[in-house]
Amino acid sequence: MRKIVLIDCLGILGTLVLLLTPCIIFAIFIIPQLSIFLAIPTFVFLGISLLTLGLVFILDPGYIPLNLHSQNSLQEEALQSLPEEYPFVQSTHFGQDRVLDLDGVSVECKYCFTCQSIRPPRTFHCSNCERCIYGHDHHCPWTGNCIGYRNYKYFFLFVINTSILAWFVFICTIVKLVKILSDPQDANITTIGNHLESILIILYTFLMGSSLGYLAGYHCYLVSQNLTTHEQIRGKYSSRLENPFNQGLYKNFRVLCQRVDPLVVNFDYWNQKR
Ligand SMILES: [Zn+2]
Ligand SMILES: [Zn+2]
Repeated sequence: MRKIVLIDCLGILGTLVLLLTPCIIFAIFIIPQLSIFLAIPTFVFLGISLLTLGLVFILDPGYIPLNLHSQNSLQEEALQSLPEEYPFVQSTHFGQDRVLDLDGVSVECKYCFTCQSIRPPRTFHCSNCERCIYGHDHHCPWTGNCIGYRNYKYFFLFVINTSILAWFVFICTIVKLVKILSDPQDANITTIGNHLESILIILYTFLMGSSLGYLAGYHCYLVSQNLTTHEQIRGKYSSRLENPFNQGLYKNFRVLCQRVDPLVVNFDYWNQKR
């Protein structure tokens, strides 16, 4: 769990409104005119989206503890206050960068003067959260939290599931509209103007499904390469520089189903791991 402040809640409240409003309209105006059984998949998809969104919001994305290599010798104090999931043994000193050799690729580990701790591989400082985050993917304004090592899998599931939900609502609403407009008995009284809510739902879910579908495809590519958004945008492991964390397609995707390992900030661990 992370410490949550009021400003973090604004983004997720907006996301909840954008997610729940079309579902409520769909449940009131569309489902009763098609089949009440459509409520089951709708609420299952919506439930998964809400659950994963909540987890992304409340979980610690992978904060690196503060003051681990402080100038003011706070290291002992910081080590004692570490939660259990941070087994940390470290010999790095204040202001000292490290370079690790992972399978012949030099990975730079910079010292963060703001957090006064060294960053393990794949760690970056988020200026919004003002913390270094392990496996930093990006800072998400829609969830008011960083997406990092600890909450990435829930973010990934949220994007894919919400995209499916949007396309599901889109298709059902189109079916309902076609069914009603092609009904000869209602032909005289039924026009497009009588179904404004359906038109709005179709436009909205098309935009939502397209953008989330694109995002889901992009993150599928990132997972297949074991890259973060941050690494991909900066071209950190371009073709001339092999990504040392890429374990092959199967293992890269399997990581999404595994429990989150303790966050290791010990450089001996990284050297021995290879
Ligand atoms: Zn930092
Ligand atoms: Zn952040």
